[in-house]
Amino acid sequence: MIGGAHPIVVQSMTNTDTEDVSNTVNQVMALANAGSELVRVTVNTEGAARAVPRIVETLDKFGIRVPIAGDFHYNGHILLKKYPDCARALAKYRINPGNVNIGRKHDDNFRTMIEAAAEYDRPVRIGVNWGSLDAALLTRMMDDNSRLAEPRDAAGVTLDAMVVSALESACAAVRYGLPPGRIILSAKVSGVQDLITVYRKLAAQCEYPLHLGLTEAGLGSRGIVATTAALAVLLQEGIGDTIRASLTPLPNGDRTEEVIVCQQILQSLGLRSFSPQVAACPGCGRTTSTFFQDMADQIQTYLRRRMPVWKARYPGVEGMKVAVMGCVVNGPGESKHADIGISLPGTFEEPVAPVYVDGRLVKTLRGSGIVAEFIAMLDDYVERRYTVRERAGAVG
Ligand code: SF4
Repeated sequence: MIGGAHPIVVQSMTNTDTEDVSNTVNQVMALANAGSELVRVTVNTEGAARAVPRIVETLDKFGIRVPIAGDFHYNGHILLKKYPDCARALAKYRINPGNVNIGRKHDDNFRTMIEAAAEYDRPVRIGVNWGSLDAALLTRMMDDNSRLAEPRDAAGVTLDAMVVSALESACAAVRYGLPPGRIILSAKVSGVQDLITVYRKLAAQCEYPLHLGLTEAGLGSRGIVATTAALAVLLQEGIGDTIRASLTPLPNGDRTEEVIVCQQILQSLGLRSFSPQVAACPGCGRTTSTFFQDMADQIQTYLRRRMPVWKARYPGVEGMKVAVMGCVVNGPGESKHADIGISLPGTFEEPVAPVYVDGRLVKTLRGSGIVAEFIAMLDDYVERRYTVRERAGAVG
């Protein structure tokens, strides 16, 4: 469920050729296993429309029940009509009002798609994008603006046109038979300040759930930081019901990064918890080896790997706080604030690593097996601290 009091949903999108069923299934599985709660696939050709039901069926056989949304541009009206199995297999349709001839008397493809959504009882995201904004609407608004005594700048008019496009399209969708509760809106741009502006305007003018994301966040740290900067401001203001980080992966890069980034944003803001967090210090001249950084990385990786099993067995474990610290300056203090924490020895310190559990010193580790011993203590802590569902069920 999206919107209202429901948790903010993490979305992702495949970059495989949808006609390639096995590749697409593999990527959807990877995204779902990483925690994506909705995965969008491109449906751009007849082959892709034919592939969709096979993709959903195969995922089902593997026990992956993540909802699949279809991304339509230009020809969605043809594909949804001609391939009803595709229309039924998809959990949601994304329609771009900028390329579906909305409002045309004889060629209203938007209407055809909305009618399909109403027929199959599917929600629709009306996804406005500044790179493909409804040209007729933009021209009309630019003309109106130019007639003003003091015309506004073109960028401001464009952002307003995006809001108008989303709201007018939503009105049209309701007119064509889609219940308002089945509509989600988005208005994506690639600039952080523009995104914040456009979503504030949109949120002020409607009650529809909003999907947030930069349209092209970019590569690497640039994409992660821009996405975080934009989404954090909006989410903090209570704007946004579903999010995506549109990161550009490096060739053969890991597509699941966009899921992890979304989870981290939500968890950092305290809006949702997905996996235990490791607080690690940045290191400094007091710790000349990379041992503690390697250890922090190993612990974070271990926690992520264990989460699919832990999540089912130990409710609340996703909120656990773990500290891996580099020396005596902040190590013991930070470790005491965590549920379980270890303070490693810095350069010239005695080679011992005190472990704190629930704020108390419980053990001091030393020697080459520190990582393995700390992981064993973590397992033990999780087992003891978080109620095991099976046992709770057996008792109750
Ligand atoms: S805890 Fe110690 S090693 Fe880590 S940043 Fe602080 S002073 Fe440096």
